[in-house]
Amino acid sequence: MPPAPPPYIGRFAPSPTGPLHFGSLVAAIGSYLEARSRRGSWLLRIEDVDAPRTVPGAAEGIIATLARFGFEWDGEIVWQSRRLDAYRAAFEQLTAAGHIFPCACTRREMADSALARDGSRIYPGTCRNGLPPGRSAHAWRVRAEGTVAFDDRIQGLQEEDLVRDVGDFVVLRGDGQFAYQLAVVVDDAAAGVTDVVRGADLLGSTGRQIHLQHLLGVATPGYAHLPVVVNTAGEKLSKQTLAAPIDALPASAALAAGLEFLGHTPPAELAHGPLAALWAWATAHWQLDRVPRRAHAQAPAGLAATGS
Ligand code: GLU
Repeated sequence: MPPAPPPYIGRFAPSPTGPLHFGSLVAAIGSYLEARSRRGSWLLRIEDVDAPRTVPGAAEGIIATLARFGFEWDGEIVWQSRRLDAYRAAFEQLTAAGHIFPCACTRREMADSALARDGSRIYPGTCRNGLPPGRSAHAWRVRAEGTVAFDDRIQGLQEEDLVRDVGDFVVLRGDGQFAYQLAVVVDDAAAGVTDVVRGADLLGSTGRQIHLQHLLGVATPGYAHLPVVVNTAGEKLSKQTLAAPIDALPASAALAAGLEFLGHTPPAELAHGPLAALWAWATAHWQLDRVPRRAHAQAPAGLAATGS
Protein backbone atom coordinates (compact mmCIF):
# COMPACT_ATOMS: atom_id res chain seq x y z
CA MET A 1 0.00 0.00 0.00
CA PRO A 2 1.34 3.49 -0.79
CA PRO A 3 2.09 5.51 2.36
CA ALA A 4 -0.79 7.72 3.53
CA PRO A 5 -0.29 11.40 2.65
CA PRO A 6 0.57 13.58 5.66
CA PRO A 7 -2.48 15.10 7.34
CA TYR A 8 -3.35 18.55 6.05
CA ILE A 9 -2.29 21.39 8.35
CA GLY A 10 -3.31 24.89 7.32
CA ARG A 11 -3.15 28.20 9.13
CA PHE A 12 -4.25 31.82 9.21
CA ALA A 13 -1.60 34.30 10.30
CA PRO A 14 -2.91 37.87 10.68
CA SER A 15 -0.63 40.76 11.61
CA PRO A 16 -2.23 42.76 14.44
CA THR A 17 -1.87 46.15 12.78
CA GLY A 18 -5.60 46.98 12.99
CA PRO A 19 -9.05 45.40 13.06
CA LEU A 20 -9.94 42.52 10.72
CA HIS A 21 -11.21 43.95 7.42
CA PHE A 22 -12.85 42.29 4.45
CA GLY A 23 -9.47 41.46 2.83
CA SER A 24 -8.23 39.56 5.85
CA LEU A 25 -11.64 37.89 6.28
CA VAL A 26 -11.29 36.52 2.74
CA ALA A 27 -7.87 35.01 3.58
CA ALA A 28 -9.33 33.50 6.76
CA ILE A 29 -12.28 31.99 4.87
CA GLY A 30 -10.13 30.53 2.08
CA SER A 31 -7.55 28.96 4.38
CA TYR A 32 -10.23 27.68 6.78
CA LEU A 33 -12.47 26.07 4.18
CA GLU A 34 -9.56 24.47 2.35
CA ALA A 35 -8.36 22.94 5.63
CA ARG A 36 -11.81 21.78 6.69
CA SER A 37 -12.76 20.38 3.29
CA ARG A 38 -9.56 18.29 3.39
CA ARG A 39 -10.31 17.16 6.95
CA GLY A 40 -7.25 19.00 8.11
CA SER A 41 -6.46 21.22 11.03
CA TRP A 42 -6.40 25.00 10.94
CA LEU A 43 -4.04 26.93 13.17
CA LEU A 44 -4.17 30.56 14.22
CA ARG A 45 -0.94 32.53 14.57
CA ILE A 46 -0.73 36.18 15.56
CA GLU A 47 2.15 37.74 13.63
CA ASP A 48 3.24 40.31 16.16
CA VAL A 49 6.96 39.79 15.53
CA ASP A 50 7.26 43.38 14.30
CA ALA A 51 6.77 45.09 17.66
CA PRO A 52 6.80 48.69 16.35
CA ARG A 53 3.97 47.92 13.87
CA THR A 54 1.83 46.02 16.37
CA VAL A 55 -1.21 48.00 17.53
CA PRO A 56 -2.12 47.35 21.19
CA GLY A 57 -5.43 45.47 21.42
CA ALA A 58 -5.59 44.66 17.69
CA ALA A 59 -4.78 40.97 18.17
CA GLU A 60 -7.48 40.54 20.79
CA GLY A 61 -9.93 42.33 18.47
CA ILE A 62 -9.05 40.03 15.54
CA ILE A 63 -9.43 36.92 17.71
CA ALA A 64 -12.83 38.11 19.00
CA THR A 65 -14.00 38.86 15.45
CA LEU A 66 -12.90 35.44 14.19
CA ALA A 67 -14.78 33.81 17.07
CA ARG A 68 -17.88 35.88 16.31
CA PHE A 69 -17.74 34.67 12.71
CA GLY A 70 -17.67 31.06 13.91
CA PHE A 71 -14.09 30.18 12.96
CA GLU A 72 -12.78 27.33 15.11
CA TRP A 73 -9.02 27.00 15.31
CA ASP A 74 -7.18 23.94 16.51
CA GLY A 75 -4.87 24.03 19.51
CA GLU A 76 -3.35 27.06 21.16
CA ILE A 77 -2.93 30.37 19.38
CA VAL A 78 0.74 30.98 18.52
CA TRP A 79 2.12 34.47 19.24
CA GLN A 80 5.26 35.36 17.33
CA SER A 81 6.34 37.77 20.07
CA ARG A 82 6.82 34.70 22.31
CA ARG A 83 8.94 32.78 19.82
CA LEU A 84 12.04 34.92 19.61
CA ASP A 85 14.27 32.07 20.87
CA ALA A 86 13.22 29.91 17.92
CA TYR A 87 14.00 32.74 15.46
CA ARG A 88 17.38 33.29 17.10
CA ALA A 89 18.21 29.58 16.83
CA ALA A 90 17.38 29.63 13.10
CA PHE A 91 19.42 32.81 12.66
CA GLU A 92 22.39 31.16 14.37
CA GLN A 93 22.03 28.05 12.22
CA LEU A 94 22.11 30.19 9.07
CA THR A 95 25.04 32.24 10.37
CA ALA A 96 27.07 29.12 11.26
CA ALA A 97 26.51 27.80 7.73
CA GLY A 98 27.79 31.07 6.20
CA HIS A 99 24.48 32.21 4.68
CA ILE A 100 24.27 35.52 6.55
CA PHE A 101 26.31 38.71 6.43
CA PRO A 102 26.09 42.01 8.31
CA CYS A 103 25.08 45.03 6.24
CA ALA A 104 25.79 48.70 6.94
CA CYS A 105 23.68 50.19 4.14
CA THR A 106 21.09 52.75 5.14
CA ARG A 107 17.77 53.20 3.39
CA ARG A 108 19.08 56.42 1.88
CA GLU A 109 22.15 54.68 0.47
CA MET A 110 19.91 52.17 -1.29
CA ALA A 111 17.42 54.73 -2.60
CA ASP A 112 18.73 54.35 -6.17
CA SER A 113 18.33 50.57 -6.27
CA ALA A 114 15.46 49.09 -8.26
CA LEU A 115 12.26 48.05 -6.48
CA ALA A 116 11.36 44.42 -5.88
CA ARG A 117 7.77 43.23 -6.42
CA ASP A 118 6.84 43.90 -2.80
CA GLY A 119 8.19 47.45 -2.86
CA SER A 120 11.45 46.71 -1.04
CA ARG A 121 14.76 47.72 -2.64
CA ILE A 122 16.71 45.08 -4.55
CA TYR A 123 19.94 44.89 -2.59
CA PRO A 124 22.94 45.94 -4.70
CA GLY A 125 25.34 43.64 -2.82
CA THR A 126 27.49 46.39 -1.28
CA CYS A 127 28.37 44.59 1.99
CA ARG A 128 28.25 41.04 0.66
CA ASN A 129 31.98 40.54 1.04
CA GLY A 130 32.46 42.45 4.27
CA LEU A 131 31.50 45.72 5.93
CA PRO A 132 33.20 48.81 4.50
CA PRO A 133 35.96 50.08 6.86
CA GLY A 134 34.65 52.03 9.82
CA ARG A 135 31.00 51.03 9.32
CA SER A 136 28.85 48.93 11.63
CA ALA A 137 25.90 46.63 10.92
CA HIS A 138 22.40 48.04 10.44
CA ALA A 139 20.92 44.70 9.52
CA TRP A 140 21.79 41.08 8.77
CA ARG A 141 21.00 39.70 5.34
CA VAL A 142 20.71 36.23 3.84
CA ARG A 143 22.61 35.69 0.60
CA ALA A 144 20.21 35.35 -2.34
CA GLU A 145 21.10 32.54 -4.71
CA GLY A 146 19.54 30.80 -7.66
CA THR A 147 16.01 30.67 -8.96
CA VAL A 148 13.00 29.49 -6.98
CA ALA A 149 10.05 27.94 -8.81
CA PHE A 150 6.80 26.68 -7.35
CA ASP A 151 3.42 25.71 -8.68
CA ASP A 152 0.82 27.83 -6.94
CA ARG A 153 -2.52 26.03 -6.77
CA ILE A 154 -4.42 29.17 -7.77
CA GLN A 155 -1.96 31.47 -9.52
CA GLY A 156 -0.09 28.73 -11.46
CA LEU A 157 3.63 28.33 -12.05
CA GLN A 158 5.74 31.05 -10.42
CA GLU A 159 9.41 31.63 -10.89
CA GLU A 160 11.68 34.11 -9.18
CA ASP A 161 15.35 34.77 -9.82
CA LEU A 162 16.37 35.68 -6.28
CA VAL A 163 19.50 37.59 -7.19
CA ARG A 164 17.90 39.62 -9.97
CA ASP A 165 14.39 40.09 -8.54
CA VAL A 166 15.02 40.34 -4.78
CA GLY A 167 18.68 40.45 -3.80
CA ASP A 168 20.14 39.53 -0.42
CA PHE A 169 17.33 40.11 2.06
CA VAL A 170 17.09 41.17 5.70
CA VAL A 171 16.39 38.55 8.37
CA LEU A 172 17.40 40.56 11.44
CA ARG A 173 17.16 44.31 11.73
CA GLY A 174 19.57 46.54 13.60
CA ASP A 175 16.87 47.25 16.22
CA GLY A 176 16.86 43.53 17.10
CA GLN A 177 13.59 42.72 15.27
CA PHE A 178 13.53 39.48 13.30
CA ALA A 179 12.05 39.89 9.84
CA TYR A 180 8.67 38.48 8.87
CA GLN A 181 10.31 36.24 6.21
CA LEU A 182 12.34 34.34 8.80
CA ALA A 183 9.59 34.15 11.44
CA VAL A 184 7.03 32.75 8.99
CA VAL A 185 9.37 30.01 7.80
CA VAL A 186 10.37 28.99 11.33
CA ASP A 187 6.76 28.99 12.56
CA ASP A 188 5.27 27.12 9.59
CA ALA A 189 7.97 24.45 9.92
CA ALA A 190 7.57 24.14 13.71
CA ALA A 191 3.81 23.67 13.35
CA GLY A 192 4.19 21.16 10.49
CA VAL A 193 2.10 23.35 8.15
CA THR A 194 1.57 21.41 4.92
CA ASP A 195 -0.39 24.03 2.98
CA VAL A 196 -0.31 27.82 2.99
CA VAL A 197 -3.44 29.58 1.69
CA ARG A 198 -3.09 33.37 1.89
CA GLY A 199 -3.42 36.58 -0.11
CA ALA A 200 -1.61 37.06 -3.42
CA ASP A 201 0.11 40.16 -2.00
CA LEU A 202 2.50 37.59 -0.47
CA LEU A 203 3.32 35.89 -3.79
CA GLY A 204 6.45 38.03 -3.96
CA SER A 205 7.58 36.80 -0.53
CA THR A 206 7.22 33.12 -1.30
CA GLY A 207 10.52 32.80 -3.21
CA ARG A 208 12.42 34.16 -0.20
CA GLN A 209 10.57 31.83 2.14
CA ILE A 210 11.31 28.75 0.01
CA HIS A 211 14.97 29.81 -0.16
CA LEU A 212 15.06 29.97 3.66
CA GLN A 213 13.33 26.58 3.90
CA HIS A 214 16.06 25.08 1.73
CA LEU A 215 18.85 26.69 3.78
CA LEU A 216 17.28 25.56 7.07
CA GLY A 217 16.58 22.07 5.78
CA VAL A 218 12.80 22.16 6.44
CA ALA A 219 9.94 21.06 4.18
CA THR A 220 8.31 23.41 1.68
CA PRO A 221 4.51 23.50 2.05
CA GLY A 222 2.09 23.71 -0.87
CA TYR A 223 1.00 27.26 -1.73
CA ALA A 224 -2.30 28.75 -2.88
CA HIS A 225 -2.50 32.53 -3.16
CA LEU A 226 -6.02 33.97 -3.11
CA PRO A 227 -6.91 37.11 -5.06
CA VAL A 228 -6.33 40.21 -2.96
CA VAL A 229 -9.28 42.46 -2.29
CA VAL A 230 -8.79 45.98 -3.64
CA ASN A 231 -10.96 49.09 -3.31
CA THR A 232 -12.33 51.08 -6.23
CA ALA A 233 -9.00 52.95 -6.44
CA GLY A 234 -7.23 49.60 -6.95
CA GLU A 235 -5.51 49.72 -3.55
CA LYS A 236 -5.23 46.68 -1.30
CA LEU A 237 -7.59 46.97 1.65
CA SER A 238 -5.66 47.85 4.75
CA LYS A 239 -5.77 50.19 7.66
CA GLN A 240 -3.86 52.70 5.52
CA THR A 241 -6.62 52.66 2.86
CA LEU A 242 -9.19 53.02 5.64
CA ALA A 243 -10.88 49.72 4.92
CA ALA A 244 -14.06 49.42 6.92
CA PRO A 245 -13.72 46.97 9.84
CA ILE A 246 -16.12 44.10 9.20
CA ASP A 247 -17.22 44.11 12.80
CA ALA A 248 -20.02 46.50 12.01
CA LEU A 249 -21.67 44.04 9.58
CA PRO A 250 -23.95 41.09 10.31
CA ALA A 251 -21.64 38.05 10.26
CA SER A 252 -23.71 35.97 7.81
CA ALA A 253 -23.84 38.78 5.25
CA ALA A 254 -20.09 39.43 5.43
CA LEU A 255 -19.30 35.71 5.24
CA ALA A 256 -21.59 35.31 2.22
CA ALA A 257 -19.85 38.27 0.53
CA GLY A 258 -16.46 36.66 1.23
CA LEU A 259 -17.62 33.37 -0.29
CA GLU A 260 -18.94 35.19 -3.32
CA PHE A 261 -15.60 36.96 -3.75
CA LEU A 262 -13.93 33.52 -3.70
CA GLY A 263 -16.18 32.19 -6.48
CA HIS A 264 -18.82 30.46 -4.34
CA THR A 265 -22.44 31.58 -4.42
CA PRO A 266 -24.47 30.49 -1.41
CA PRO A 267 -28.29 30.47 -1.73
CA ALA A 268 -29.46 34.05 -1.08
CA GLU A 269 -31.49 33.21 2.03
CA LEU A 270 -28.37 31.86 3.79
CA ALA A 271 -26.83 35.33 3.78
CA HIS A 272 -29.55 36.41 6.22
CA GLY A 273 -29.90 33.20 8.20
CA PRO A 274 -27.98 31.56 11.01
CA LEU A 275 -24.21 31.45 10.66
CA ALA A 276 -24.05 27.68 11.24
CA ALA A 277 -26.21 26.98 8.16
CA LEU A 278 -23.97 29.12 5.98
CA TRP A 279 -20.81 27.41 7.27
CA ALA A 280 -22.40 24.00 6.65
CA TRP A 281 -23.17 25.00 3.06
CA ALA A 282 -19.69 26.46 2.59
CA THR A 283 -17.85 23.42 3.95
CA ALA A 284 -19.90 21.08 1.75
CA HIS A 285 -19.46 23.17 -1.43
CA TRP A 286 -15.93 24.55 -1.13
CA GLN A 287 -13.63 23.91 -4.09
CA LEU A 288 -10.35 25.73 -4.49
CA ASP A 289 -10.76 25.39 -8.27
CA ARG A 290 -13.63 27.86 -8.16
CA VAL A 291 -11.50 30.68 -6.77
CA PRO A 292 -10.85 33.22 -9.56
CA ARG A 293 -7.28 32.86 -10.87
CA ARG A 294 -6.46 36.50 -10.44
CA ALA A 295 -4.02 38.38 -8.28
CA HIS A 296 -6.65 40.93 -7.22
CA ALA A 297 -10.32 41.80 -7.54
CA GLN A 298 -12.61 44.55 -6.27
CA ALA A 299 -14.43 44.31 -2.99
CA PRO A 300 -18.23 44.11 -3.09
CA ALA A 301 -19.85 47.52 -2.67
CA GLY A 302 -19.95 48.76 0.91
CA LEU A 303 -17.09 46.60 2.15
CA ALA A 304 -14.18 48.75 1.10
CA ALA A 305 -15.05 52.27 2.22
CA THR A 306 -12.05 54.42 1.46
CA GLY A 307 -13.19 57.18 3.75
CA SER A 308 -12.25 59.76 1.13
N1 GLU B 1 0.92 38.28 8.59
C1 GLU B 1 0.74 38.36 7.18
C2 GLU B 1 -0.35 39.36 6.87
O1 GLU B 1 -1.19 39.63 7.72
C3 GLU B 1 0.37 37.04 6.54
C4 GLU B 1 1.51 36.09 6.55
C5 GLU B 1 1.26 34.78 5.88
O2 GLU B 1 0.11 34.35 5.71
O3 GLU B 1 2.26 34.15 5.55
O4 GLU B 1 -0.39 39.87 5.77
